[in-house]
Amino acid sequence: MITNDQVDLDELIRTCECLREYFIKAGISERRPIEIFTALVEKSVLYIRDEALASQLIFDANEICEQAHYPKNDYSDAKEFIVRNRKNFDKLIENNVEEITHFCALNGVKYLPTIKNTDSKGGHKIFFYIGLVPISEFIKHELELNTGIKQDDVSIEYRVPQLPQAPTWARPLLYLKISGWKFYTYIFLPILALILGYILFLWNYFSMSTDSLFYTIIISAVFGFSYCLLKPFYEAIQKRVGIAPIWLTKLNVISAQLRYVRTESKRPNGKFIRALQLVVYQAECPICNSEVFIEKGKKVHKDRLVGVCDESPREHIFSFDHVMKKGKLII
Ligand SMILES: [Zn+2]
Repeated sequence: MITNDQVDLDELIRTCECLREYFIKAGISERRPIEIFTALVEKSVLYIRDEALASQLIFDANEICEQAHYPKNDYSDAKEFIVRNRKNFDKLIENNVEEITHFCALNGVKYLPTIKNTDSKGGHKIFFYIGLVPISEFIKHELELNTGIKQDDVSIEYRVPQLPQAPTWARPLLYLKISGWKFYTYIFLPILALILGYILFLWNYFSMSTDSLFYTIIISAVFGFSYCLLKPFYEAIQKRVGIAPIWLTKLNVISAQLRYVRTESKRPNGKFIRALQLVVYQAECPICNSEVFIEKGKKVHKDRLVGVCDESPREHIFSFDHVMKKGKLII
């Protein structure tokens, strides 16, 4: 079982969307349990858009009832309502588990969502949240028991605990779907810089003057500044993932990456249109349990992104596959 503070937001969104799609396609008549689940998903998505961490996606019974359009005046009424419908939701999943896991597998989803609650300590409110159960959990256990094969100890799994928003002024840079003329602008800019640079060089070469020097310095400064500003974007577009510049992330985000993800729309040639997205990849070091952050690789790991342990940044270095969200110790 994956608890909420370990949950991967990519997987959470994908899993819940898949299950909602299943409910629509299967035409299940029991409405309330689905409405409660949907309300929890909607609340979680709203919080994710507000940059909440996975561990903050917990809601009290009244909040969920309100979101599901069953407002209750009394807290205990609301709690009872959620608990009852959660039972029905569990039953619904249990009764259709084969069909659901099949549907999920077809859509590349590896988990099933469940409605969980936090412990009630000293009569405090309990909070509800969506937990994820790996579909393959029991199969893997069986495999380990049968073959005695243990998973490699020095492999690492990354997760996405947050999808931060860029500051408002930088959003157009990120969220434009890069296709057509926008795509060509990205290619056109470096070419323009090259041509202008060559013209300036010729001008200086044949008739150096105060004017020519002045324009060379101004234009070089403008292009130098734009280059520094846009370099991370070009890198993310080319390599599909890169380190996000500090000015793009807010202070409370320690380290963020930029990834170039597929959107739902396609180009006329059938290829997916992609857009840039801010994302935080993190992991726990399998050797010392400290946090692992993504950084640019140095020396032998040049041109790669690597996971570096906060406690032992020289020795606990891991490869970083942002697609599979996996890595290995690479010292
Ligand atoms: Zn470590």
